[in-house]
Amino acid sequence: MKLTDSIQYLKGVGPKSAENFEKLGISNLQDLLLYFPFRYEDFAGRSVFELMDGEKATVIGEVVTPANVQYFGRGRNRLSFKIKQEEAVISVTFFNQPYLADKVELGKEIAVFGKWEQAKQALLGMKIIAQADDGFSPVYHLKEGMKQATLVKAIQAAFDAEVLSDVEENLPDYLLEKYRLMPRQEAIVAMHFPKDMEAHKQALRRVKFEELFYFQMKLQALKNKEKAARFGRKISFDALALQEKQDSLPFELTAAQQKALDEILSDMKSDYHMNRLLQGDVGSGKTVVASLSMYATVLSGLQSALMVPTEILARQHAASLQSTFPELKIALLVSGLKVAERKEILKELKSGAIQMIVGTHALIQEGVEFHDLGLVITDEQHRFGVKQRKTLREKGQNPDVLMMTATPIPRTLAITAFGDMDVSIIDELPQGRQAITTRWVKHEQMPEVLKWIAEELTKKAQVYFISPLIEESEALDLKNAEALYSELTAYFGSQVEIGLLHGRMKNEEKDAIMQDFKSAKLDVLVSTTVIEVGVDVPNATVMVIMDADRFGLSQLHQLRGRVGRGTKKSYAILVANPKSESGKKRMEIMCKTQNGFILAEEDLKMRGSGEIFGLRQSGMPEFLVADLVNDYNILEVARQEALEVFKRPDEPVHRWLIQQSQVEGEFD
Ligand code: ADP
Ligand code: MG
Repeated sequence: MKLTDSIQYLKGVGPKSAENFEKLGISNLQDLLLYFPFRYEDFAGRSVFELMDGEKATVIGEVVTPANVQYFGRGRNRLSFKIKQEEAVISVTFFNQPYLADKVELGKEIAVFGKWEQAKQALLGMKIIAQADDGFSPVYHLKEGMKQATLVKAIQAAFDAEVLSDVEENLPDYLLEKYRLMPRQEAIVAMHFPKDMEAHKQALRRVKFEELFYFQMKLQALKNKEKAARFGRKISFDALALQEKQDSLPFELTAAQQKALDEILSDMKSDYHMNRLLQGDVGSGKTVVASLSMYATVLSGLQSALMVPTEILARQHAASLQSTFPELKIALLVSGLKVAERKEILKELKSGAIQMIVGTHALIQEGVEFHDLGLVITDEQHRFGVKQRKTLREKGQNPDVLMMTATPIPRTLAITAFGDMDVSIIDELPQGRQAITTRWVKHEQMPEVLKWIAEELTKKAQVYFISPLIEESEALDLKNAEALYSELTAYFGSQVEIGLLHGRMKNEEKDAIMQDFKSAKLDVLVSTTVIEVGVDVPNATVMVIMDADRFGLSQLHQLRGRVGRGTKKSYAILVANPKSESGKKRMEIMCKTQNGFILAEEDLKMRGSGEIFGLRQSGMPEFLVADLVNDYNILEVARQEALEVFKRPDEPVHRWLIQQSQVEGEFD
């Protein structure tokens, strides 16, 4: 047989069962051989004292009673016997497998794989393990209509059909030697039927490298292609005018801000099309970098747009841009506008009268047309899907693109996840910032907390209270916020001005409340998570988060980032009586560090790479064996090697690799 032969011609597989293989993406013998298990059932014997109720494991013991089979009629029966492991005697039961009785010999040692039932001190048997297959057996991802045993049999049949020798090596010798990787054919055998732990480990290392290397090859190819094809437009602006504007700001840029700005401006000036991710921790000052880039665009006679995830943020950015650039025509586009107002904005946007625009999703609706859009920026980019960013981009003719994110991603992961982008990082905070002191308190301690806050308030502090989060229910969130608001009003009395902010308010109301808090008319702001991202009130110094364990790490980090934005000492109080271990752990980590990168890594460990930062939205492929978090080191090496290949693409072995990676198909 040949590798390309359809699976249906394999011994034991017919046209009908072939359909079930198809569902797993297996159509020919090669596909089958490369369909690797995602884990292995460990058949090493365990002590029953360490087993948990319901756990599946192998228990080895001496058979102390003869096998007894009871028949119930209709072909149903039960095989039972007892085994002794150290001082424990365990009942073992198998249902409807009477023939196993032959394998149970009184006084002999036996290994039974099964499910542990703690209360009965019994093992519900699933398999008797022969001495020969101790070690482990593969477990494959399945879909309906397919059984593990069927798949294993088919793979065995494929090996029997002797097609393995036709599988070609797809990594060059120099890589195999440099990283001591197992040859491909050997690895395939050891992936399915490892002879021992070490063989399995080496096979896995080889397969992961292969997977990540070709992933990186494709990313590099994509990047090169885009660089070549994507002639963007040159945005030529008056550098002196820009510098003057920068000098007039109330503060100097930090070195990291300046570096990021320079990288952006140099992309904009070139005819290379900018596609850049700007990362910076909460409060690192991304906004001013964005505004100066927008200003440069306007100086060159083009329009620029800033898209943000919430209305509050849109209003805040529009106001701050207008005060930085009073001479410009800057518009705000959100969904709640009056018809006439919206119409006027759309008209002026199309005519080019509006030079900068800030908005929410409203910006990407139909009917929003620009005169000539030169630069598109998205803030908190992970809140937007790939499609939405694309729609905004298509409102112009190949505008430059800048995406900002405050949820920092470890660098390599960022480059990987957003591999066709360039990355700028703001890795320092503006001068004069003090560390935010973070405390975790229990609900019982609220009286003390309130007493302390009352004192802070007499010192003119401004305080946020975040009400508990009720998943999926905005209505309950609101109820919580209202309850908290009345409690605090009752507690602090009329001396303290308290405002309430939530998602269901009308725009003007939200606006008015935020304005009052900004101008310190309000001392306390009780809010739902609507203020989670971006909100900037430098004078606020205390953040109290109720039921903090209901929030994820990155959300807590964002919320805490609402304070510590000025030069005054700031505090975050996490009020929580966590019921889960992970809740407890999150509180501890928050108290320990304020570094967004460390928190992001912890979050990554706790939740896995797919869940966070909208990585899933970013069009990442799913990996068969590799894992971006745990195989980080391999990923980094694979990236280096892929870069090397594209540095000298004409070398024969490199040319061959580039061809190989094209064979593997493109992803979108
Ligand atoms: P983020 O990166 O979280 O979006 P912002 O851009 O909102 O941060 O900036 C946070 C605060 O720091 C704002 O009040 C801003 O005016 C201030 N800020 C930004 N850059 C500097 C700087 N170089 N020096 C002092 N303050 C700055
Ligand atoms: Mg921001």
